[in-house]
Amino acid sequence: MSRAGIEMLFPEPLLAGRVKELAAQINHDYSGEQVILVTVLRGGFVFLADLMRQLEIECSIDFLAISAYASADGAVGAVRVVKDLDDPIADQNVLIVEDIVDTGLTLNYLVKNLMARKPKSLKICTLLDRPTRRIPALELEYVGFDISDHFVVGYGLDFKGLYRNLPYIGLIDPGDIDWTTETSSRKKP
Ligand code: 5GP
Repeated sequence: MSRAGIEMLFPEPLLAGRVKELAAQINHDYSGEQVILVTVLRGGFVFLADLMRQLEIECSIDFLAISAYASADGAVGAVRVVKDLDDPIADQNVLIVEDIVDTGLTLNYLVKNLMARKPKSLKICTLLDRPTRRIPALELEYVGFDISDHFVVGYGLDFKGLYRNLPYIGLIDPGDIDWTTETSSRKKP
C-alpha cells in the first residue's frame, strides 16, 4: 500500500531484486579487489545500506555532503563539499553510490573533486537515472532504473525532509515548488 498522495513507482520487491542484480555485477567486476563506497548524504544512505549487504567483495564506506548554490539567474549551477570524506582515497578503488542522477551537475563536480585525489579507479553506481535533464556527459557504470520527469520520494529520497523512510519509491506532486531547482535536502547557502 502506498501513502495517500504518493503513487507507487518501484515497490519494495522490485527494488530488492534490482539491488541484488547490481550487487552481483559489482561483485563480479571488483572480484579480488577492495573498494570504498562513497555516498552523498543524505539521499543515498538507504540504497547504500541494502547494496553493501549484498556485496561479497571487501568494502568500506565513507560519506560526503554537498551544498548547491543558486546562481544569479536562480538556477542551481555550482556545488561545493560541506562535509568531506573522512579518509584518503589515493590508489584505492572508489565507487560512488548515488540515489538519483538528474542534471548530473552534482556528480560532475564530485568526479572532478575525487579524481584530483588520484584514486586507483572511480566509478558510479546510481539507483535512478533521469537522462532527459542531463547537462554534462557522465559515464554511469551501474544504473538501477531509468525514470522520466517526475519527482520521486521514498527509499532515502525526500520531499522537504520527509518520506525518506518509505520502503518503496513513489511519485509525489510537489505542488507549486519548482523541484527542478529545489531538489532534496541540499542546502543553498
Ligand atoms: P543533480 O545534480 O544530478 O541535478 O542532482 C542530483 C540530486 O538531486 C540527487 O542526489 C537528489 O538529492 C536530488 N534529486 C533529483 N531528482 C530528485 C527527485 O525526483 N526526488 C528527490 N527526492 N530528489 C531528487
